[in-house]
Amino acid sequence: MQPILSLQDISYSYHNLKGETPALTHINLQVSEGEFVAVAGPSGCGKSTLLSIVAGLLIPEQGKVLYRGLSPSDYCQDTVLKIGYMLQKDHLFEWRTIYQNVILGLELNHMVTKENTDYVLKLLEDYGLYAFKGSKPSELSGGMRQRAALIRTMAVHPDLLLLDEPFSALDFQTRLAVSADIASIIRKTQKTAILITHDLSEAITLADRVVVLSKRPACVKCEMPIHYDISREDPLAVRSTKEYQDYFNQLWEVLTDGEPIL
Ligand code: ADP
Ligand code: MG
Repeated sequence: MQPILSLQDISYSYHNLKGETPALTHINLQVSEGEFVAVAGPSGCGKSTLLSIVAGLLIPEQGKVLYRGLSPSDYCQDTVLKIGYMLQKDHLFEWRTIYQNVILGLELNHMVTKENTDYVLKLLEDYGLYAFKGSKPSELSGGMRQRAALIRTMAVHPDLLLLDEPFSALDFQTRLAVSADIASIIRKTQKTAILITHDLSEAITLADRVVVLSKRPACVKCEMPIHYDISREDPLAVRSTKEYQDYFNQLWEVLTDGEPIL
């Protein structure tokens, strides 16, 4: 299948008064329509930099980004090819209700129509937040807030989802449930998504393919397609399969260069 996103030989360095910090070096990555790709790598290796480049927020020093055949300056202007960006912090505004928060993207994009607000109400219902639409963010749990942030992202019908460690702020139990939940929503809607995580277990549990980055400056060390015979609905069941253990052991070896962690 033709990839819809193609990163070709991307390199990027930050420059400031202290000098140069090379973040990415010769990155090649292709993503197909409807694919859910996880990018895992050590903290500070350049994962967020990579997403910022895909989102068109940073311009690579070298290499080319093509999304549906367009370069960032063109696809960022396109009114249909919207990119949804979800971050570790939910960035919900306390002075707005949950409903007012989740329609914020629609307001900013001048997309507040009956059809779109009906869609938002349906998402609130589907994600178990309908009863909280008049509540303030502080009245919700961390997992509920993260779901609200996802609804705000989905409300504008993004064509591509970029998720930058969206579950890291949650405690372990909530994280398992919310990440499985959100992955299942992404799968059902057949969205193309890139999930950044420093958690290899999360990557292997959720994604169709895991890309492992090296330490900074990041290059692609390994790519592995992930498949399970069982459904992914129950993250604990997935994590107790033989396939999961095998994927984990192989990718852990790659991530740590076979060196002991202590
Ligand atoms: P990750 O998301 O994998 O933790 P980042 O992409 O945020 O890593 O950052 C990669 C490297 O670039 C880090 O070492 C970080 O300190 C450095 N970096 C990030 N942003 C800047 C910046 N604005 N100026 C200088 N260095 C930066
Ligand atoms: Mg980051």
